[in-house]
Amino acid sequence: MQPLTNRAKKLEKKPMTLAERAYLPAIFQGLSITMRHFFMKKATVRYPEEVRPFSPIFRGLHVLKRDEQGRERCTACGLCAVACPAEAITMVAGERKKGEEGLYREEKYAISYEVNMLRCIFCGLCEEACPKAAVYLQADKMAPPRFERDEFIYGKDRLVEPVDPTKRSVRGIQLTPEQAAALSNKMAQQPA
Ligand code: SF4
Ligand code: SF4
Repeated sequence: MQPLTNRAKKLEKKPMTLAERAYLPAIFQGLSITMRHFFMKKATVRYPEEVRPFSPIFRGLHVLKRDEQGRERCTACGLCAVACPAEAITMVAGERKKGEEGLYREEKYAISYEVNMLRCIFCGLCEEACPKAAVYLQADKMAPPRFERDEFIYGKDRLVEPVDPTKRSVRGIQLTPEQAAALSNKMAQQPA
């Protein structure tokens, strides 16, 4: 057959040497690569048991804050949802009833408030948009791994901070003592 260009190169099939036929050079080359990687610093971590150090400006999971009297601050105004570029926040507003003054600070409150953590890009715009200082992104907590997509829809049961003031941290729900110690160790190892 006539070649299309003059760049065609005719290859000759050379007979393999004895070592090549026994695959020895390839086996030793493969083993040397494996051994080299065996002693190299690992690029991965065993998450969630092992947690990478967080950046000082890390924004993690949302928390819906209570005021000093334990009442929910959120008034379901929807500004956080409007500010959210990922459309991750949805809520249903309700009127506070008589006798519920100790539960909700404003006359209107969020009957339901949901954040889709799979959509969220943790930009913090919801936090900035909130006029009631009700929603914050915690600096010390992130969404744990789950197998079901539904489990990344965080409702009020997981967002509102505990009623017990001793269980609250400055910006969110407290870590367990072990997690807090591990986190502060990691933070201390970070370059200034
Ligand atoms: S952090 Fe950003 S993306 Fe996530 S819910 Fe708030 S505004 Fe939306
Ligand atoms: S969290 Fe803040 S901005 Fe969002 S609905 Fe509640 S009060 Fe409004």
